[in-house]
Amino acid sequence: MERTLVILKPGTLQRGLVGEVISRFEKRGLKLVAMKMKQLDPEILSVHYAHLLDRPFYPWLRDAMMAAPVILCCWEGFEAVKVVREMAGATNARKAAPGTIRGDYALSAQENIVHTSDSLENAEIELARFFSPEDYCEYPSPLNQYLYAPDEK
Ligand code: UDP
Ligand code: MG
Repeated sequence: MERTLVILKPGTLQRGLVGEVISRFEKRGLKLVAMKMKQLDPEILSVHYAHLLDRPFYPWLRDAMMAAPVILCCWEGFEAVKVVREMAGATNARKAAPGTIRGDYALSAQENIVHTSDSLENAEIELARFFSPEDYCEYPSPLNQYLYAPDEK
């Protein structure tokens, strides 16, 4: 199964939407395998958002991501990277489809509730950035037979 990183952004915590957003991933059938709360700093953000460092909005994005702690989650499931990315919706929340997380809870290109990994390769890199091997929990998945067919992968 794939694993992907979700970051609940500071605005999600401040607006009291942590439970609702986590609940969406739970209800979809994804498995929570690691989770923690963390205050981000400029160093880790300059690596995490390296592809945006030269964009004019980067200082605002960095400050917004440090305005309060974030909730870091690792979700597991078949094709979890794509499934979670599609649940988040378009980056600009005003263009995100209703029914997606951004489309239901946000109105901004910056303040858009969640970060989600955009590829399996980046999910592995990003998970290693925020989690150590001992942060992951192993526990039974007794509902898997009701979530997946035996031949699905
Ligand atoms: N962002 C922004 N203005 C933009 C584009 C992106 O403030 O015009 C912020 C937004 O919070 C977004 C983050 O930068 O989630 C990372 O951008 P990316 O293009 O990686 O989008 P994502 O993968 O989060 O959809
Ligand atoms: Mg991105």
